[in-house]
Amino acid sequence: MLNVEILGGVGEYGRNCFFIEKNGHAILLDCGVMNNRQKTLPNLTQAHVAKLDAVFISHSHTDHVGALPLLERWGYIGPIIMSKMTAQQLKQSCHHTRTFQPESIGEWTVVSNCLAFQWGYSGHLIGSVWYKIRFFEEVIFYSGDYVVDSYLLKATLPIEDGTVYDVAIIDSGHIEKHIKNIEVLQRMTEYIHANPNCPIIFPSSFSGKTADIATYLFQHTTRAIRVDHDLLSLFENYYEAPGNLLSNRTMLQQFKLECLTKITESENTIYFVPERNEAKLVELLHKKPTSIVIFTGYWNKGKYKSPFSKNQYKEFFYKTHPDYHDIIALSSKIQAHKTIYFHSSLTNRDTTFLQLLKNEEEIL
Ligand SMILES: [Zn+2]
Ligand SMILES: [Zn+2]
Repeated sequence: MLNVEILGGVGEYGRNCFFIEKNGHAILLDCGVMNNRQKTLPNLTQAHVAKLDAVFISHSHTDHVGALPLLERWGYIGPIIMSKMTAQQLKQSCHHTRTFQPESIGEWTVVSNCLAFQWGYSGHLIGSVWYKIRFFEEVIFYSGDYVVDSYLLKATLPIEDGTVYDVAIIDSGHIEKHIKNIEVLQRMTEYIHANPNCPIIFPSSFSGKTADIATYLFQHTTRAIRVDHDLLSLFENYYEAPGNLLSNRTMLQQFKLECLTKITESENTIYFVPERNEAKLVELLHKKPTSIVIFTGYWNKGKYKSPFSKNQYKEFFYKTHPDYHDIIALSSKIQAHKTIYFHSSLTNRDTTFLQLLKNEEEIL
């Protein structure tokens, strides 16, 4: 039997961290902090760290990597496993990183006598992955943050070989919603067409969502698109990891030429600005007072100090996690003795598949 300790990320949104122990050996899945002002740490202790053989990182967001410095402080010298792209995106330097190359997708990589893993793309951010981990004779699935229907990014699952996982840890970030991303993109486009003279501003995060929206609008509107300098590295990553992408190769080259290399602007440009930089947003609104701000996620207008008037903003929620139906589909494909639904304040460690099915009428 595995001993699974949830150190954060279940019954809450953020600080994802799971400690899994067997026969005196242990692994850690992600090591994140809460996205709040205090950057609340996971319930990781020095005693946990002393037992670790390996750490698996799903992607570079702070709610998955923000507590990595604790490992070093407590003397951890084992491998910190992540994709090459994730390592490149990390803000803090991280010793003992062991990266895997895109070519190793779907293959078993051996870490030690009792530990091996496979990985695949999770569609949430370029470089983000899921893990299938063999730990002694037990098998674990960790979805990381998962998007089933990204416009640009591939999302795969382990090959169906009859594996029944001992433990599956599945992203349930948007369990209260029912959303089809392509329909959101279509509605957004219609709205933009209906407001031909208004510049559009998207407060944007470093995630797959931002690139999905920008490239979709590039293809489906005739407007100039402007990506803020601070978001450029996100877009550049798309040209470095072709294996992570669905087709659309030609469109991406065109996008690079027209939106990233030369700076075009017109009266009704679509702007992508970092969502955490309110000053930039305010400055742009000041320069372009007829702009409409489009919010696409939980990080919404309420988080900004400056109030938005009713006709100044619009909301189109775009999935960056599985919604209710995606979670049901993932749970059916990943057969497991025990499934832990994480990344939501609406699930707890006792939430089961059957309970989820009973909640269908509560879905928005
Ligand atoms: Zn994430
Ligand atoms: Zn996350």
